[in-house]
Amino acid sequence: MATLFEKIATGAIAAEILYRDDRCMVLRDIAPKAPLHLLIVPLQPIPSLAAANDGDGPLLGHLLTVTRKMGEQFSQKADYRVVINCGAAAGQTVPHLHIHLLAGRDFAWPPG
Ligand code: AMP
Repeated sequence: MATLFEKIATGAIAAEILYRDDRCMVLRDIAPKAPLHLLIVPLQPIPSLAAANDGDGPLLGHLLTVTRKMGEQFSQKADYRVVINCGAAAGQTVPHLHIHLLAGRDFAWPPG
């Protein structure tokens, strides 16, 4: 069965997609946890970071590169936080690897 993000990628579910290339897409989170909250999502439905393999290295690097570019473009040169929730106990709710990019407020450390 297709994941939520696969359905968004095909247009079956609507979302605000800000960027797209042959390997990933960037969309606004539907329930933002900061003034800017973007999701960087590979088109390939890898279930989590833990499910990635060594061969996924170039894709993972590409996702981080896109994350950096989105930070430059949308966080107005301010600081930002990058998060990958890996597994339910870490807060992952959608079983399709994605990177959170959050900006526009201060962030506490350690995270909850
Ligand atoms: P995670 O909890 O790390 O798996 O992140 C999943 C994220 O997807 C959450 O921040 C949700 O708010 C977000 N989300 C869920 N449904 C949608 C949707 N239809 N469009 C955009 N973001 C969504």
